[in-house]
Amino acid sequence: MEPLYESKISCICCETIFQSTRVRPSFKRASAVDSDFCGHYDNGVNPDFYVVRICPSCGFASTENGLDKLNDTQKKNYYDRIGNNWKGQSFNGERTAEQAMASYKLALLTAQVTGVKDRVIAGLLHHIAWLYRYEKNVAEEQRFLKFALEAYVRVFELEGVSVNNAKLMYLMGELNRRIGELNEAVKWFSRVVNDKKIMDAAMIRASREQWQLIRQEAEENRLGKAKPASQEVGSA
Ligand SMILES: [Zn+2]
Repeated sequence: MEPLYESKISCICCETIFQSTRVRPSFKRASAVDSDFCGHYDNGVNPDFYVVRICPSCGFASTENGLDKLNDTQKKNYYDRIGNNWKGQSFNGERTAEQAMASYKLALLTAQVTGVKDRVIAGLLHHIAWLYRYEKNVAEEQRFLKFALEAYVRVFELEGVSVNNAKLMYLMGELNRRIGELNEAVKWFSRVVNDKKIMDAAMIRASREQWQLIRQEAEENRLGKAKPASQEVGSA
């Protein structure tokens, strides 16, 4: 069975009905998942490459989590900033890593000019960081992890602590850990672990593990630094 198939989508901006390439569920199983939920796929097809749907007529790019409809102001903003410059390139069929990156950046711009929720924008920024991770482009990955983190923080400030936010709090811890802000990371992990209102066992476990990892690495660094010092003493 082919991993890719076409599905019909109606553009919420110009109402064109177009085919968008999708990945069959049986090909969506990751061979490994990173601690910030980035999936790795060794069967040749990365389902993340096909998350963004792009209308060939007007270029409107969105994901399933995007808006359901656009009002007149949002449409005008979209055409003024993006749609009027759309050259009609196709994103149909198999996507390269380069096309996947272009699709996410287009979705990000589209989300920003149409005023999509921060939670969706955070997800797009986080996905772009993952695409850079696949390419081993550490500098860009770090840059986009920081952007994603800032957006997750805005979401949290808006929504506050609710039962559904354990994963969000864990992610804020984990992204802080990945960009080297260890004190901030520990702050979020300890909140997930110690807040009695949080019942999400998977996120509590993950927070405990990553908190432990920070402690372990700090200890290794301490010993690593202590070693040359003691050698100096010995050789003196
Ligand atoms: Zn369209």
